[in-house]
Amino acid sequence: MIKLEKLSKIFETPNGGTVMAADKVSLEVPKGEICVLLGPSGCGKTTTLKMINGLIPKTSGKIHVAGRDTDTIDPVELRRSIGYVIQQIGLFPNMTIEDNICIVPDLLGWERSKARKRAAELLDLVNLDPSIFLKRFPKELSGGQQQRVGVIRALAADPPVLLMDEPFGAIDPINRAVIQDEFLRMQTELRKTIAFVSHDIDEAIKMADKIAIFRDGKLEQFDSPDDLLARPANDFIASFLGSDRTLKRLSLLKVSDVMLSGRIRVSAQDDVATARDMMKEAGHKNIVMVGPRGRARGYLHLNDVVEASGTVEEHYQALPTTVNVDADLRTAVSRMFRHDMTWMACVDDDGFFKGFITQRAISHQLGATYRDTPTEGLT
Ligand code: ADP
Ligand code: MG
Repeated sequence: MIKLEKLSKIFETPNGGTVMAADKVSLEVPKGEICVLLGPSGCGKTTTLKMINGLIPKTSGKIHVAGRDTDTIDPVELRRSIGYVIQQIGLFPNMTIEDNICIVPDLLGWERSKARKRAAELLDLVNLDPSIFLKRFPKELSGGQQQRVGVIRALAADPPVLLMDEPFGAIDPINRAVIQDEFLRMQTELRKTIAFVSHDIDEAIKMADKIAIFRDGKLEQFDSPDDLLARPANDFIASFLGSDRTLKRLSLLKVSDVMLSGRIRVSAQDDVATARDMMKEAGHKNIVMVGPRGRARGYLHLNDVVEASGTVEEHYQALPTTVNVDADLRTAVSRMFRHDMTWMACVDDDGFFKGFITQRAISHQLGATYRDTPTEGLT
């Protein structure tokens, strides 16, 4: 959907020197994906972004948007066909929120009523009550609210492609996380193709399908967040990602990615000797007890029942905690540490036992260069 081929930009500086702001950048963003352009200040992110909609003329290379070479598109038409969220929000202070949102639809000659209706819909989408906000001026909005308007303004004419330059940069971390989540929710429906500039590695990991890391105008690595964190191509990237990059991967992986089968289980009325045999045979130190319909109810630890007789019900212990199969591994690990567990039972939304995860399976997953199936048991 967006394709850059050896895209370069050389700026001439006033003292007669030159700056290579983009140096033969080649990358492709497929339809419906978010590509985050990431890197330290001055590495060429904004320059690359602005070349896509022609705000900065390129020095050399090719840009294709939706299959069309942008050299063949009228610059004004190009700019209006691509949504653009600028670094400093850039709402016009003397125009109402409604007029701000309707700028591009108005330029495109949309009917007044259609543009107004669209503005109200978009405000609704980001939980700003249109009856309150349409007629307000930007200075009457909080920073977070202005930022939301900046984003929906770029969506007003429903462009398939969106360029966003540090769109959530100007607000505090808590509000930023809320807007990021909100935006990702919108994106699951809108499926826009997005180039998104950020200098924040955590934001990039959260938002990106693919991350493009830049240094001094050069594209250093172009990979999915997990592959980037698992295999940084060089020391510069590794140090940019941070020494905790392995922990950062935890938030990208789900419990279900490392969960081991919950096939082996017992019920309250089962013989404790049977439970013991099942643990020994499977090489497990623990076994989960499920209720009549399969909900996780408790567990037995092998060492506690070596000599025991009777039913499981007479010996089981409560599970200190469980984790949802859809939770991320960061949540899971945090909970394991909090409860001093080396394993946890995994349940679905209704509490049904689905399997278990172990610390070893998690470290195996993080250590594996390519995905292997963890084989070790419940220890
Ligand atoms: P980023 O967005 O990654 O912080 P930019 O793309 O804004 O970086 O800038 C990349 C490099 O190009 C920097 O060295 C910057 O100083 C230089 N640069 C940007 N715009 C201009 C310009 N109009 N004239 C000269 N140099 C520029
Ligand atoms: Mg920039």
